[in-house]
Amino acid sequence: MLRPYLLLDVDGPLNPYRAKTVPPGYRLEEIEEGEKTWRLLLNQQHGAELTALADTFELVWATTWEDGANRLIAPRIGLPADLPVIRWPAGAREGAERSRRSWKTPHVARWVGSRPFVWIDDEINRYDRMFLESTPGLGSFRVHRVEANRGLAPADFAVLRAWGEANV
Ligand SMILES: [Mg+2]
Repeated sequence: MLRPYLLLDVDGPLNPYRAKTVPPGYRLEEIEEGEKTWRLLLNQQHGAELTALADTFELVWATTWEDGANRLIAPRIGLPADLPVIRWPAGAREGAERSRRSWKTPHVARWVGSRPFVWIDDEINRYDRMFLESTPGLGSFRVHRVEANRGLAPADFAVLRAWGEANV
């Protein structure tokens, strides 16, 4: 039996970039690669909680970091560096503003096929849910929004565990 996917955004859920100060449990990390430097808030507990969920879910990166999530984020929070990655097609963002849903949503719908999934992102809302509900052939799913000033918290992991138990 294939596990449901757990689709993970980085900026927002794992890196609460709208937080005004460093929240408890987080560390400000400076990540450098080549000429680039990023400053992110990361939380080791996220890695531990997600690793525990990997018995139930197959973890998948659904982030603009694409392969950079495996290379730069995963090792810093204790996740394996070879998780599957959704790669967004060129021009994926074009025309999405008018729809009020995330530009990621149609690509997510195609990528998951019929596998059940939970999608964690700070930029998803009821329009994304409505789009997915009207997409033929999708498995059961949950769209789980996590605010970018807060990041993934214990209550979110409890929701994920409960969904996993009910859907596996
Ligand atoms: Mg985000």
